[in-house]
Amino acid sequence: MKSTNSKDSSHGQPSIVRRRIVALAGGVGGAKLAHGLAQILAPEDLTVIVNTGDDFEHLGMYICPDLDTVCYTLAGLANPETGWGRVNETWNTIANIEKLGGPNWFRLGDQDIATHLERTRRMKEGQSLSQITRDFCAAWGIKHTILPMTDSPVRTMVDTDEGELAFQEYFVHRHCEPRVKGFRFDGVNIAEPAPGAREAIESADAIVFCPSNPWVSVDPILRVISLTPTPLPWGEGRKVVAVSPIIGGKTVKGPAAKMYSELGIEPSALAVAEHYRNILAGFVLDSVDSEMENSIKQLGIRTLVTDTLMNNLTDRTRLAQDVLNFIRS
Ligand code: GDP
Repeated sequence: MKSTNSKDSSHGQPSIVRRRIVALAGGVGGAKLAHGLAQILAPEDLTVIVNTGDDFEHLGMYICPDLDTVCYTLAGLANPETGWGRVNETWNTIANIEKLGGPNWFRLGDQDIATHLERTRRMKEGQSLSQITRDFCAAWGIKHTILPMTDSPVRTMVDTDEGELAFQEYFVHRHCEPRVKGFRFDGVNIAEPAPGAREAIESADAIVFCPSNPWVSVDPILRVISLTPTPLPWGEGRKVVAVSPIIGGKTVKGPAAKMYSELGIEPSALAVAEHYRNILAGFVLDSVDSEMENSIKQLGIRTLVTDTLMNNLTDRTRLAQDVLNFIRS
């Protein structure tokens, strides 16, 4: 508990207690909840730490898919249909690259390419990813803090029945078709958390795992920041709370459920809770999965059952408020 009588409400009403929140996020699912949290929390009370294991170099550019999705979403620049890329996008550059025989499997819009080109130029000058992200956020009018998990290169590698594949090769080029056998995060053992990440975690009242892919979005962040187990019981110390990305045994988008199945685990909200069981104090599952609540409680984890599907900004803000109320409870 940091201070009292501050703004902590979507309606600008003073509330009794202020909370400092760190949200861990991948791309699409992570950005949605981070966006909801940003509607409620004051800028100094929310830090979003974003996975960079999906980053890669393509067409000579340094591309950070999850970081860009979170930034575009918080800036109101994201494409609401795809969940990635920019709204009102044009595709002239990639169409012309294709005409010249270049690779077109990773769809990059013209406005998006500007982000990657400018980021690459700055990185070549020696600027760090977190410094560049800070400048881009300021240019896009984002007031909350968005940090890459690290400034060092960490690369998610997917072990499949067709051998080890770099993440975007598996995810975009191969449409997640190869069967997954495991994951490796190249560079994770020497990667330091980005400047400010450790301090944000240490001063946070709660860490929220957004409904992101546990295997390839949240796990790489956890490996870098080395989150220590939360002291139980609930109410003592910092709370670590996860929101399930699996609803009714399925993902809303992406390969998380397929990954669970191929790794021999039935995909479910319970499987996600078990995935994080050593560090979790609380877990938010969807109303359609309410029959799993008792099994999750038996893991020693507090639960909140609510609607977790975020189809629009109202849903995002409502779920964020539910999560904050749960943390406060
Ligand atoms: P990626 O890096 O772009 O794959 O994005 P994330 O890892 O952040 O998010 C992917 C996960 O988000 C998938 O497992 C989805 O099921 C989950 N997801 C997407 N939208 C929603 C939603 O509205 N509610 C919930 N609960 N999960 C969602």
